[in-house]
Order: sequence, then structure tokens, then C-alpha cells
Amino acid sequence: MAGTPPPQIVRTRAELRAALSAAARPVGLVPTMGALHDGHISLIRRARAENATVVISIFVNPRQFNEAADFEKYPRDEAADVRLVGGAGADLVFAPTVEEIYPAGFQTTVRVGALTESLEGAARPGHFEGVTTVVAILLGLSGAERAYFGQKDAQQLLVVRRMAADLGIATEIVACPIVREPDGLALSSRNVLLSPEARAAAPVLHRALMAARAAYDAGERDGEALRAAMRATLAAEPLGTPEYVSCADPATLVELNRIGGPALLSMAVRFGRVRLIDNEPLP
Ligand code: AMP
Repeated sequence: MAGTPPPQIVRTRAELRAALSAAARPVGLVPTMGALHDGHISLIRRARAENATVVISIFVNPRQFNEAADFEKYPRDEAADVRLVGGAGADLVFAPTVEEIYPAGFQTTVRVGALTESLEGAARPGHFEGVTTVVAILLGLSGAERAYFGQKDAQQLLVVRRMAADLGIATEIVACPIVREPDGLALSSRNVLLSPEARAAAPVLHRALMAARAAYDAGERDGEALRAAMRATLAAEPLGTPEYVSCADPATLVELNRIGGPALLSMAVRFGRVRLIDNEPLP
């Protein structure tokens, strides 16, 4: 954006603390792994609207990857990210090295309980420990009054909220809606890794969620019937291999048999080596 000063980039814990010690409050933090897209930008704009200082962290966190190949091929483009972040009005970018976040001697893990054991947690052992450990560090370093997370990663949001409540972390955890492509595919940094054929097939996740939502809107309240509606839609797309489909209690993530209140529809589907997730809250 013309006239917008570029954000300051800091790379060490000490630089981040120093930059924020003089910053106007409240501080809003947007944790990301970079390869930024309009989903991230929506979080930054929300943070900009609600805070005096906006900090974005860009850190591809090795501890939350359960497959080395996924970590290595994860897209990275810091120069493009910094331009986007500046255009969205952020003040500060924290882009540390792995050694800065996990220096020699590091030996702390933050682990949330049952909420991390189903869905993404079951499919990706150790993933949420990596997430909660790095988010705890980022919240501690920044002392942010608010931190912004996407509903796209619905279980992550619940787990981070639980961690903040349990550990007495004062940061308000703010949830932001899912940003989608016009064909319904939820924006994700991993979408660029899809082959053209897989990219054309990938909106099937959203179609499956919409099929279950249509059944719900027509009065279906049987959880298994909604899971079956999602499975049936996914089965029509041979390029995608479903890992799980879920219709769960949105507070506990326990699978529902009967839906008597709110529910969370969610799924993970593999297209070759690229794994996509999506979800839809009910009602
Ligand atoms: P990531 O860089 O994938 O770790 O994501 C950083 C933050 O952006 C997380 O809180 C995500 O939930 C959020 N995010 C990612 N994709 C989207 C999207 N399509 N819509 C809204 N938020 C998103």
C-alpha cells in the first residue's frame, strides 16, 4: 500500500521484547507459519482494527510437523510475506530461527489433555504439543493482550483456548472465520502444493460439508447420518482419500450420535502427499 511504512523485522527473543517494551498497547499477535494468503490477512486486518500495535510471527515450527517431508516441503517466502503483512498494516514481524525458539537446553513441552487426542491429534501424533509449546512461547514473549486464530484450524483454536485458560494466560484468544476460494476450497498454505488435478478436486471437502449441512437444515439430527452424507460426497472424488470425517460436540470434540445443540462437522482428506482439513460449525 503506498505510504504504508514497512513493518520492522525482529529475529530474536530479546529484540521482540525490546520492540514491544515501548509499543503502544494493546498489542495484537497473529501467529503464522508464513506463506501468507488472504486467510492470514483477514486475521491481520482484524488485529489491526482492534489493537494499537500488531505483531505477526512467521515461524515454520518443526515440532508441530509429524512428517519430516511435510516440514521440508512446507512453502516459505519471507520477502513476499513481509510485503503482504506491511500492506495489511502490521507494525512488527517476528521471524526467528529454530535455534532462537528452541535454544540448546530447551526441555519444556506444553501438553493439553483429551481435546488433543481425537481428530487431528489422533492423525498427527505430537502435533498439538508442538502447537501449544510454541504458542505458549509466543504469548509469553509478546505479552499480547489479544491473539488471533482462524476457525480453519478449529481444534487448534479449542486447544489454545484450553491452554490459555488452564495456565492463567491473560491473552484473549480471538477466533476469525474461514476464508475460502470462490469454489469453496478453504485457503491454506498447502494449496500451492496440490497438482492441477488435485486442486480441481479439492473443493470436494467443502461440498461434503455442505451436503451434511443441507441434511441438518432439512431436520436430520443423527450424527452418523451426517457423517455418512460427508463420506458419500467424498467417495465421489477418487483423487481424495478421506482420513476422518467427524460430527462432534464443538466443546469436547466427542463424536455425537444425536445432535441436540451445536455441533462441529470436520474432516481431513489426503490428495497424494498433501493433506487438507476443513470444517463447518452447526447450526
Ligand atoms: P498457519 O500459517 O497455517 O499456521 O495459520 C496461521 C493462522 O491462520 C491460524 O490461526 C490459522 O487457523 C489461520 N488460517 C489459515 N488458513 C485460514 C483461512 N483459510 N481462513 C482463516 N484463517 C486461516
